[in-house]
Amino acid sequence: MSEELFKKIVSHAKTYGFVYPSSEVYDGLSAVYDYGPYGVELKNNIKSYWWKSMVQLHHDIVGLDAAIFMHPKTWKASGHVDAFNDPLIDNKDSKKRYRADVLVEDHIAKIEAKIDKEVAKAEKRFGESFDKEQFITTNTRVVEYYAEIKRINERMTNALSSGQLEDLKALIEELEIADPVSGSKNWTDVRQFNLMFSTQLGNIAGDEGKLYLRPETAQGIFVNFLNVQKTTRQKIPFGIAQIGKAFRNEIVARQFIFRMKEFEQMEMQYFVQPGSEMEWYRYWKNMRMKWHHALGVDENMLRFHDHENLAHYANAAVDIQFAFPFGFKELEGIHSRTDFDLKSHSDLSGKKMQFFDPELNESYIPFVVETSIGVDRMFLAMMSFAYQEEMVPDADGKESERVVLKLPAALAPVKAAVLPLVKNNEELTLKAKAVFDQLKFAVQAQYDEKDAIGRRYRRQDAIGTPFCVTVDFESLQDNAVTVRDRDTLQQVRLPIAELNDYITKKTDINELLKKLV
Ligand code: ATP
Repeated sequence: MSEELFKKIVSHAKTYGFVYPSSEVYDGLSAVYDYGPYGVELKNNIKSYWWKSMVQLHHDIVGLDAAIFMHPKTWKASGHVDAFNDPLIDNKDSKKRYRADVLVEDHIAKIEAKIDKEVAKAEKRFGESFDKEQFITTNTRVVEYYAEIKRINERMTNALSSGQLEDLKALIEELEIADPVSGSKNWTDVRQFNLMFSTQLGNIAGDEGKLYLRPETAQGIFVNFLNVQKTTRQKIPFGIAQIGKAFRNEIVARQFIFRMKEFEQMEMQYFVQPGSEMEWYRYWKNMRMKWHHALGVDENMLRFHDHENLAHYANAAVDIQFAFPFGFKELEGIHSRTDFDLKSHSDLSGKKMQFFDPELNESYIPFVVETSIGVDRMFLAMMSFAYQEEMVPDADGKESERVVLKLPAALAPVKAAVLPLVKNNEELTLKAKAVFDQLKFAVQAQYDEKDAIGRRYRRQDAIGTPFCVTVDFESLQDNAVTVRDRDTLQQVRLPIAELNDYITKKTDINELLKKLV
């Protein structure tokens, strides 16, 4: 847990034009954010990496862009009208509202931290000969901690699935969970709260005209299953990928862009033959983890976390969790959704959502394996991973601190900055602008002549620009420039004619994609 690091990232994101609070002139809107000039570039690059990894690399995955508004029956069939709820609890003293399940999960995380502490202590004591598996299955204290976690999870799962919310309250009281802000244990009852936003069609009054803002993009894919399958002549197995906005009336909105009311999802539904879903579930689990690893994220910052509490539509589900500054939390979900959605839409619409399998000579409702990741959470994961403060040598031989975003080059908002060595020299300015005009056709580049060169380097480090291209007096003679690498700080001299190729190669998204096959 690093509260301080998290605050720095939030502040950095605002100061350097990545993320602003929404409508800030009116003091912002809780859990809604705007992306600034560098934020929108980073976000687009993340989306492009995902889209290409799905649609471009897989001949059997096609894209879709469904509307945000959908027929209200969609949300009846999907179960969202009846069951898309959060169990909420209020603290009577602080008047703060929490998700009851999150309070219990945070309590479990504290027990897990105790286990980690015991393991670290034992590792130190036993050194080389330490066998972690043996230790956690035999050490009395650790075994008791695990049993306690299991007991709590079972109680919570039972309370949630049976709808016996008084049991959840009783559990919170028994565990003596206190309000994290005030320390008070004076709780109200737990109540269910539907997370969907609704609005009204202009020409129809009452419930008939009630529309929902989609809480997930997946349903746009399910209701288009027949359209896409017929028009693209795909055979099972095949997938449909979509990137788009989703809306949830999150009550406990905190943690910056981790939990927003308006956010973006990248979802892919893979339609498979019933019975083969576990095989595909394993395949997509593996593929998705590979996608994260290809970015060079430290492998210790990512882990799988199986769901204890399966959603009504799933027969297997796992999260990919990322080590955010506030702990390991869900970044992505991989769910085996069975035939639940297509079946419900078939039942409610009266349209058969089946696939005729020519090899089996029979029709069936396909099963679905879904991968679902939030663009904004991925953005925050990248910022958290990339943000570093370090000492680096200055031109005068001394050292000073810099803040640098070590973003994967292919995701960086600006790939290269072109900097004339000094300002107010007409020849240098002209040359540098010509270099920029050449480079802008290859990559997202920037021209900057304000301030001393050292400060301009720091500004580019802070937004994660992988390369700074300096145009100096020698460039006027030799038609070459100096290219500084953000991470190694090494400089190479390159002919201007080779610059586009050099930068393109080093920042190419294809280099990431090649790691996936
Ligand atoms: P959580 O348990 O954190 O609320 P969830 O299990 O409800 O998440 P899913 O319904 O599986 O999330 O949604 C898929 C993905 O969409 C999540 O893994 C996450 O990356 C993203 N996501 C969900 N809710 C939000 C939100 N309120 N703000 C930003 N991203 C979100």
